Amino acid sequence: MRCPYCQYEESKVIDSRPAEDRKRRRRECRKCGRRFTTYEIVEKPLRIVIKRDGSLEQYDRNKLLAGIYHAIKKRPVSYAQVNEIADKVEEKYDNSWHSQMSSVQIGTIVLEQLRNIDEIAYIRFASVYQNFKDASSFIAVIAALNQEETETGTETGTEPEET
Ligand SMILES: [Zn+2]
Repeated sequence: MRCPYCQYEESKVIDSRPAEDRKRRRRECRKCGRRFTTYEIVEKPLRIVIKRDGSLEQYDRNKLLAGIYHAIKKRPVSYAQVNEIADKVEEKYDNSWHSQMSSVQIGTIVLEQLRNIDEIAYIRFASVYQNFKDASSFIAVIAALNQEETETGTETGTEPEET
């Protein structure tokens, strides 16, 4: 970032704050010591979904929302709650070192959220996401759900499984 006064190339950042999709930085020239302000565009890396077959796809919030809406059909889940789930997924993306997640990891985050919101929606989403091949695996999820409820309120975090 060149100094606008003396054209020297090095400056030190003395203040940095977000301004809409930009960062406002207050800088001080390392040569002449004069201060100036820059507005820098923060590049957000593309969020990538790694699908089950190993292929890559660009993350699409609307697609995720559509999947969640399918699961919450006729259930008392609000628009805000659905968006919060998507926010959680995006938060995970932004906090991770790589901006890629597997569809299984995303599904796990959604399931963790839905479990706390609506049981029926949780089971519906699980049945789609975990691709149940037969009734027994579906029953297994419901059994696990019931078991968790009978256990004395200990929250066991489920780690996303790498397959
Ligand atoms: Zn300067």
